[in-house]
Amino acid sequence: MNVSSILKDKGSEVVSASPDATLFDIAKLLAEHGIGCVVVTDENGGIAGICSERDIVRTMAKRGPSAMEEPVLRSMTKKVVTCEVTDTVDRLMARMTAGRFRHLPVLVDDRLAGIVSIGDVVRMRIAEAEMEAAAMRDYIATG
Ligand code: AMP
Repeated sequence: MNVSSILKDKGSEVVSASPDATLFDIAKLLAEHGIGCVVVTDENGGIAGICSERDIVRTMAKRGPSAMEEPVLRSMTKKVVTCEVTDTVDRLMARMTAGRFRHLPVLVDDRLAGIVSIGDVVRMRIAEAEMEAAAMRDYIATG
């Protein structure tokens, strides 16, 4: 299974914000959508950065609550690791583990085409394991 099977299930919507949105705006987006990160896009729709709940916690701890009024540009991660629709679930797991993050934006022809979270990866992995177990049971039952 690959990224395209994940996006078929969850769709290609990505919650995004502009670099001048405040950290408070980002926190509201995270809460409204029940998600853990927002992709920050530039005026051409390209990826300018990514801001997760961890970045907000880190900024709060460093600069205090007044930082909620600062632009997300100051807190986001600018070097964003992405994936492609053909990447397998195993590759996503390896990339998330190596980078110690839980989100991977999906690019198609350099355009944002979706986002995969660690929750999506775990769900897919469980579905794969269940299919393998069912195939094995079938094989044993039919000899
Ligand atoms: P997360 O585990 O996704 O909540 O993010 C943990 C940290 O990694 C935060 O500082 C994020 O800004 C950063 N981060 C999240 N996703 C990515 C990504 N795909 N590429 C680079 N950094 C990321």
